[in-house]
Amino acid sequence: MIKVVSFDLDGTLVKSTFADKVWLEGLPKLYSKEKNISIKQAKQYIYKLYEKVGESRKEWYDIDWWFKRFDLKQSWKNLLDNYKHYIKLYNDTIETLDKLTKKFKLIIISNAKKEFIEIQLGETNIKPYFDHVFSSLSDFNLVKKTPEVYIKVLNFLKLKSNEIIHIGDNLEFDYKCPQRIGIKSIYLDRNKTKKADNIIFSLYELEKVISNL
Ligand SMILES: [Mg+2]
Repeated sequence: MIKVVSFDLDGTLVKSTFADKVWLEGLPKLYSKEKNISIKQAKQYIYKLYEKVGESRKEWYDIDWWFKRFDLKQSWKNLLDNYKHYIKLYNDTIETLDKLTKKFKLIIISNAKKEFIEIQLGETNIKPYFDHVFSSLSDFNLVKKTPEVYIKVLNFLKLKSNEIIHIGDNLEFDYKCPQRIGIKSIYLDRNKTKKADNIIFSLYELEKVISNL
């Protein structure tokens, strides 16, 4: 029996615009200002370095590390604050959380770092819905939501794999990985690519799918 409904955060409950704006616009802009070069040059330089570091390394997600790497004087907290107006929920988020919170415990499992998770939950006021919020990177030192992350969450919450269901927009890390250790998962396919068996196109469908399990 399902006791816990687990959500991914970016691209599932919250739109991904905020993180994109911070990394692709905010950081280059700040760099260009502090180093007195054009924004175009700053973008070229920084994007190349992003690529070089690559998303399989922890540093890639670590804004504090980048600020030190670039020797920036302003604090990264200011940068996140300056871009927080880009944090937006999807239209189907609140209604879904309102319904599901009456029947299940809700949690978040994200691969974002805690500082990105916290500002997004704070800005959207959805934190009270969740019993636990896990960051694979900040809590378990793991870059991607591999099966190991889900095992750690089960152990932490003292749950069996058939007592939890996970929903998210990444086919590999939200859909296939939980299934590898026997956790049921639903692929949130907002772009209608139809690449999985257990699909919903919006969160509005979620309650019904869970009750039909
Ligand atoms: Mg996602």
